[in-house]
Amino acid sequence: MEMKSITHSSKECFLECPYRYFLEYIRLLTPSAAAAPYLTWGQLVHAALGWMSERETMDTEGAVEALREYFEEHPEGVQIDLVDAMLYSLDKVLKGWQLKWAEKDKDLETVMSEVPFEMPLPSGYVFKGKIDRIVKDKKTGKLLLWEWKTPSRVIWQNYLLGGQGLGYVLGAREALGFDVDTIQYDFLLKPANKRQYETEVDYWERIGESVLLSYDKYFFRPDPLTYREEEIRRYKVELDDITQMIEFCRREGIFPKHHAANRFGKCAFERVCLYGDENGYFVRENFHPELESIHVKPGTDED
Ligand code: SF4
Repeated sequence: MEMKSITHSSKECFLECPYRYFLEYIRLLTPSAAAAPYLTWGQLVHAALGWMSERETMDTEGAVEALREYFEEHPEGVQIDLVDAMLYSLDKVLKGWQLKWAEKDKDLETVMSEVPFEMPLPSGYVFKGKIDRIVKDKKTGKLLLWEWKTPSRVIWQNYLLGGQGLGYVLGAREALGFDVDTIQYDFLLKPANKRQYETEVDYWERIGESVLLSYDKYFFRPDPLTYREEEIRRYKVELDDITQMIEFCRREGIFPKHHAANRFGKCAFERVCLYGDENGYFVRENFHPELESIHVKPGTDED
């Protein structure tokens, strides 16, 4: 029997709008814009940083080259000139990141990177996630979780209150056995949106230069977030409760529409929700799943 799962994102989606959860996580509908480079940029940055941290290296060119080789071998479904432009910028972005952090990071040691976890919940659901990196401070011996983030801007309250870090701490402790209570977010901001007259390729060629020229403003790390035992326990209980709400909705076939009046930004499912119009949506499949693991496959020709 298929084991039902919940992730931090699917939980947030369900709480925000159960109908959207139905479209996104049960019907697996995805607006076609999601296949565009916006998501891929985050994947590329994660893949490159993962490659570097796995090898304890600051070899940014090696990381970009590994990605380039990957796309040469897996050209299916990608617009190669766009990927080239993104990799061109990625090289510059990684160099900026390195300029900013290399010296400060010399006391950090990667214990594991790109670490998936699966934690059974009392409801029968499995809580799943993937931690970008588990790091040890060589001076203090303290472990901390590490998350790279690539938004275009940061609303810090969302990280303080949103609970993603709590979920990862819970998973790292209960599913992986790490004694950890702290998460460090490492932001690599994605520069401003595409200008009206620019093509996607022009845009991606431009942003790397902008980041490298003023790298200080595109990379920042807030103070690490440390969670109390009570918060971690409460998160687990709430997670289980929410899976039971989801199960109720599935069983009864009821996924209420909830469009909050103070909602920030558009809902990508508006058209299908309002008019039942599914044109421009497709059923999601993994988008270059191997990309996520190129840096954790030592000994393969992707290594
Ligand atoms: S448009 Fe509003 S009600 Fe409809 S799925 Fe999106 S958030 Fe929910």
